[in-house]
Amino acid sequence: MDRETIRKKYPLSDEQKLLLSQKYYETDLTIKQILKDFGLKGLNSSQITYLFDNIETNIKCEYCKVIMEQEPPTRTDGNKDTFCPQCKHILYRSSYRQCCCENCQKKKQIEKEKKEQQTKNAIYNLLNRDHDKTAYNAEDLTSWDKLLLGSLITFAMDEELKYIQPLEDCERCFFPGRDKSIEIIEKLYDDGLIILGNRYRTSSFTFDEKNNVSFYLNKVFYEVWVDDSDICKKLLNPNQFLNDDQILSFWRDFNKGEAIFYLLSEFENLRIKSFSPGKKTEELFAAMAEKLSLSQIFRMIRYITDKTAKEVMTGDKYYQHIANSTITRLESHFYRALHENYSLYNVKYENDLSMVTTYFYNKILNMGDSAFYSVPNIAMEKYIILREN
Ligand SMILES: [Zn+2]
Ligand SMILES: [Zn+2]
Repeated sequence: MDRETIRKKYPLSDEQKLLLSQKYYETDLTIKQILKDFGLKGLNSSQITYLFDNIETNIKCEYCKVIMEQEPPTRTDGNKDTFCPQCKHILYRSSYRQCCCENCQKKKQIEKEKKEQQTKNAIYNLLNRDHDKTAYNAEDLTSWDKLLLGSLITFAMDEELKYIQPLEDCERCFFPGRDKSIEIIEKLYDDGLIILGNRYRTSSFTFDEKNNVSFYLNKVFYEVWVDDSDICKKLLNPNQFLNDDQILSFWRDFNKGEAIFYLLSEFENLRIKSFSPGKKTEELFAAMAEKLSLSQIFRMIRYITDKTAKEVMTGDKYYQHIANSTITRLESHFYRALHENYSLYNVKYENDLSMVTTYFYNKILNMGDSAFYSVPNIAMEKYIILREN
């Protein structure tokens, strides 16, 4: 039976209620005894407080503005939830519980819609701000800029040449190394060569308490923002914009970057994550990129890291130590190979080189995977033939 039914079944005068509540709250008499004294037959001990009036609070319901009430306390539970007698809105004692009355649901829905609208507006303002920027002067693009934009256009842009896909959606890394990729896309954005695309996913943006918006560099779409409407087509099939010295130097640099990235991924497979290449490693890889094809370097790294794997398995050395001894072994192996003129085996092209390197192999060298198997050399016969075509 609920409160109302019980109050109707056992109607008490105000005087009786007062007396009953004094016995209940202020004496040690058992409830059974009290019920007996007052002739309340058939009432459960736990239902005795049902007979008392609700307690008025000094809180007004935020929806109906009527005074909110509490059920009468029991002997063991002096603190009850506060509720609105009209709309049933409840202020729970426990902060873990939230009211879900009709009014609260409506309020939540309105707040949600308001928040969504604010979010939309904040993103919209950010995109507008970007589209109001002056487009980058095409004549100011350096060869480096062209290589970067060209590779994004080739590997990350949609068929209509409108949007660069978010880097995290792309199969290929933009640049050898994930952190480096993000660093470079940030620079392109900061320098104004690309802007945020009008296509977007709300989840790519974050908002602070003041609804200031920021975004994840690898999760957003971009547009190329250069004042030449044909720039995308041009960089998709570029005329040679590098001289021979630049070609050679970029070739070596990209191979070096790919090789270091390859070494780090091999390390990562062996759970060696703490290693970051310093000057010594950089120098070694620069020397290797000068004398060997990228394929040969990959082969050498694989050969050496097979030994590293055994060392990791025996587990009696620190990872940093293992990484350092791997580099030393790689160095010895490289110079010995040079000295004894080893015929170095190639590994197969695995097609997971970065966008920039692949763009360079395909569109600048015009060699495709052959570049992977060739020692960087601008006088190479094949290269010359292809360039003359
Ligand atoms: Zn109310
Ligand atoms: Zn409510």
